[in-house]
Amino acid sequence: MTPFALAIALFFALAATVIVWRILRARRRAHELREPFPPSWRRMLARVPLWQRLPPPVRAQIETAARRLMQRVSFIGCNGLTVTDEMRVIIATQAALLVAHRDSHAYDALYSVLVYPGEFVVEDRDEDEFGLVTVGRRALSGQTIDVSRIVLSWEDIEDGLAGDEGYNVVLHEFAHYLDHLAEGALTDGGVLAPGAQRWHATLEAAYEALCDAVDRGEDSLIDPYGAEDLAEFFATATEVFFERAREFRAAHPRLHAELREFYGVDPAEWG
Ligand SMILES: [Zn+2]
Repeated sequence: MTPFALAIALFFALAATVIVWRILRARRRAHELREPFPPSWRRMLARVPLWQRLPPPVRAQIETAARRLMQRVSFIGCNGLTVTDEMRVIIATQAALLVAHRDSHAYDALYSVLVYPGEFVVEDRDEDEFGLVTVGRRALSGQTIDVSRIVLSWEDIEDGLAGDEGYNVVLHEFAHYLDHLAEGALTDGGVLAPGAQRWHATLEAAYEALCDAVDRGEDSLIDPYGAEDLAEFFATATEVFFERAREFRAAHPRLHAELREFYGVDPAEWG
């Protein structure tokens, strides 16, 4: 066999191996998705107040979406943290709430979830119109820069579980992910899909109302941090839509209706 023929043979052998490996992996994943959700995982979710309110049919769909996320995404502990099964289940299940009834494949683009024990520090580089660069440091509870990875503080996730209703860093960051997945179209008004105009008009009106309330120093159901910009507004509104659903429906009926349609569920109807 000539060196060229040998190289071609090796190439095809390698390609065949990769194809077979992918088929076997897809079969194994499909098989795992059909397995019942482990009872030990359900026991871990006893700590999640939102989970306790879910009707059984909603739980079943969320379990499948959560399992899919855990299969595909690497959970990486940072700053010495070891990510436990409980952490993975609690993060994945809450994240799955956002996609289980609209697109259970939505997290397929996500590569990793980085979990820090507490707040983590990031460097910000800001350049003004005159080219003056300012470098600052910020402590964050979560960060989602693109669709490849999400960074979370476990301490903040636990604060949300402890009953601080309306604060849920998992829902917040995964809502940002969905916006990134749509290339910002959920919050920058750049898409003209059916219903998009109404979506943007409703989101902007509620955002302006929050900005006005913050300017006047009034209390608001949606975290004042949502007045930062429309992307933060969408993420903070998502937290309250799920966590304080009935109050949210009463205070923001139009925004509630848009988010209900978007997420495919109505948390105000849950127990
Ligand atoms: Zn945010």
